[in-house]
Amino acid sequence: MARVAEPARKRELGRGERVLPGVWRLRLPLPWPGVPHCNAFAVAAGDGVVLFDTGMHEPGSLGHLERALEQVGLRLEHVRLLVCTHAHSDHYGQAASIIERAGCELWMHPNHAHVTASAADPEQAFRRRLEVARQSGVPEEPLRRWAQERAGKLSYGIAKIVLPDRDLLPGVEIVTDLGTWSVHETPGHAPSHVCLFQAERRLLISGDHLLGRVSLYYDYGWTPDPAGEFLRSLDVVDRLDARLCLAGHGKPFTDVRAHVQANRALAGERIAAVRDAIADEPRTAFDVVPLVYGAELTPLTANWWLAETLCYLRHLEVEGLAERVASEPERWRAARAS
Ligand SMILES: [Zn+2]
Ligand SMILES: [Zn+2]
Repeated sequence: MARVAEPARKRELGRGERVLPGVWRLRLPLPWPGVPHCNAFAVAAGDGVVLFDTGMHEPGSLGHLERALEQVGLRLEHVRLLVCTHAHSDHYGQAASIIERAGCELWMHPNHAHVTASAADPEQAFRRRLEVARQSGVPEEPLRRWAQERAGKLSYGIAKIVLPDRDLLPGVEIVTDLGTWSVHETPGHAPSHVCLFQAERRLLISGDHLLGRVSLYYDYGWTPDPAGEFLRSLDVVDRLDARLCLAGHGKPFTDVRAHVQANRALAGERIAAVRDAIADEPRTAFDVVPLVYGAELTPLTANWWLAETLCYLRHLEVEGLAERVASEPERWRAARAS
């Protein structure tokens, strides 16, 4: 396939719009190819708002958030409480800046080390990722190039690490003018992921757990079985029977159950494809990738696809359907019937 240089993309600006009376979507630009923006949501609460998620930290990013707020008649100083659905940079990156300006508290799930530990020591986190890639069978040459390209550019999109004032766990209630929101743990996409639900209005703030367009991503290496956790978290959200979903990327959507089912179906397909890939001979995770995705890893997809594949292999292992073969790099095969 010919590689065509992407035309210089005109950088978007932060934009604010009302979703419902007392609920505003703040659409904030992202520097990532294929993921042009993320959402934060402001919900009226007394003389201010509760802000759900933050947008990523990078030069000029706070200005985008301020511009989006301004378009709906709000300012950073109106934020009475900051709630993060999870600790990824596009949802937590500007937390420090917002707290400093608004003087508010941050509430977030306590399993945030997958980001806060990495951001505290980016060099070590990067070395660890290289090691996982090497162990998964990625050849030395692309690894060396990757390390070179990344050298000195280890930006995590986080203004400063701030720890939550309160652990966002089931039982914690977030009080707004639209009623109280309950907390539902939904690990899988990230260990720190929660969804927030307003029961009377059946509104769901879904972060990255449920998006308008099915897009699977898991943080690998922090919990025993991210893919299995994600599937169970889909059940959690399904049971809530939400009417309107305010997702971390893209437009709000209504057919929540259909989205849950589409996620389940795609994850199930990929798990089955990974299982097929190791049915006849032991393979490394790197060798499994093209058999599942129909394309080789590129620098762009390396982190994403490799982590996803490792999560499915790990899931099959937990289910007793796959096992590791002692080899360097590590190979996986279908578990032998015992
Ligand atoms: Zn995320
Ligand atoms: Zn996100």
